[in-house]
Amino acid sequence: MQEKDCLFCRIIRGEIPSSKIYEDEYVYAFLDIAPSFAGHTLVVPKNHYKNILDIDAGEAGHIFAAIQKIAPAIIKVTGAEGFHVLQNNNEAAGQTVFHIHFHIIPRKTGDGMTLWTPTPYENMEKMLETAQKIRAEIQ
Ligand code: AMP
Ligand code: ZN
Repeated sequence: MQEKDCLFCRIIRGEIPSSKIYEDEYVYAFLDIAPSFAGHTLVVPKNHYKNILDIDAGEAGHIFAAIQKIAPAIIKVTGAEGFHVLQNNNEAAGQTVFHIHFHIIPRKTGDGMTLWTPTPYENMEKMLETAQKIRAEIQ
C-alpha cells in the first residue's frame, strides 16, 4: 500500500537516499534532513497513510514498538537527557509530508527549543464547557 510519488514511499523503496537507522516488516526510520538537533529521526510506516486518523491502529502499534527500540539508541549516541515524540496532522499543524511520520527529537536541559506558549482559559467555566463539548463529540 504505497503511493508512486510520495516522498517517504520513495525513500522506503530506496528510490531516494536516506540515512536509515532502523527497518522491520512494517516500519522504516531515518534521520530528518533538517533536524532540530543531531539524531532527530523520522519513524514511518511502510504503508502509506496520510495522518493519525488514517492509519490502521494495529500498524500504529508497530510504530510505537519501533520507537521504544530506537529512542534509547538515539539518547545513548547523542547524550540527550530526554526526547519528544511529535507528530503533525495537516498543514495548519505543520505537516509538510503527507505520509504519516513520528519525529523523535532528542533534548538536553537548556537547549533552547520551545514547543508552545501556555495560554490559560479565561476562567474555569470556559475550560469545563470545552471539555463537555469535546466529550459529547466522541463516538
Ligand atoms: P512534518 O513537517 O511533520 O511533515 O515533517 C516533515 C519532515 O521531513 C521535516 O522535518 C523535513 O525536514 C523532513 N524531510 C523532508 N524531506 C526529507 C528527506 N529527503 N530526508 C529526510 N527528511 C526529510
Ligand atoms: Zn507515502
